[in-house]
Amino acid sequence: MKHIIIGIGAAAVSAARTILKEKPDDSVVIVSEDREVYSRCMLHKFISGERSAESLNFINDDLLSGKNIRWIKGKTVTRLDAGTKTVYSGGEELASGDTVLIATGSVSVTPPIGELKTAKNVFGLRHLSDARAIADCAKTAK
Ligand SMILES: Cc1cc2nc3c(=O)[nH]c(=O)nc-3n(C[C@H](O)[C@H](O)[C@H](O)COP(=O)(O)OP(=O)(O)OC[C@H]3O[C@@H](n4cnc5c(N)ncnc54)[C@H](O)[C@@H]3O)c2cc1C
Repeated sequence: MKHIIIGIGAAAVSAARTILKEKPDDSVVIVSEDREVYSRCMLHKFISGERSAESLNFINDDLLSGKNIRWIKGKTVTRLDAGTKTVYSGGEELASGDTVLIATGSVSVTPPIGELKTAKNVFGLRHLSDARAIADCAKTAK
């Protein structure tokens, strides 16, 4: 069987590992908006400069270079055809399979308090891009 997994966070990686352990002849296609694998739990260490982006990678084996796994990175899934189990990004067909796992996590939300949503230098902290923005801002902050 061919399994499509959307996301490359902890849930997606754990699912891919489990599928390939239990069913070594099956194949997995991972599709993710993220272009990098990183531990969100360690984003504060990136902001403080104690860890590089590369060192946040929590896949420390050859999982992603296995012959039965393919990673389509930097693609946002915008549509899933549940009948054919096909995922699309805009008009582009990315992959189809026998099963689809949605492991897309969550996003941070800015509460509707005062001008918080439109004010400058207000950040969520969920993605590596958020941590990069905070670290950049902190360089000149007083
Ligand atoms: C700052 C911070 C600190 C944390 N500290 C801890 C801690 O100390 N201990 C702890 O247990 N937990 C901690 N957590 C929580 C932990 O990081 C999350 O529970 C975990 O990341 C959830 O994993 P996930 O795979 O479900 O989702 P995520 O890690 O959010 O991964 C979702 C994936 O889906 C992808 N994606 C989303 N939408 C799409 C789409 N439409 N198309 C394609 N791909 C998509 C994203 O690119 C991403 O790869 C922390 C979280 C944060 C933000």
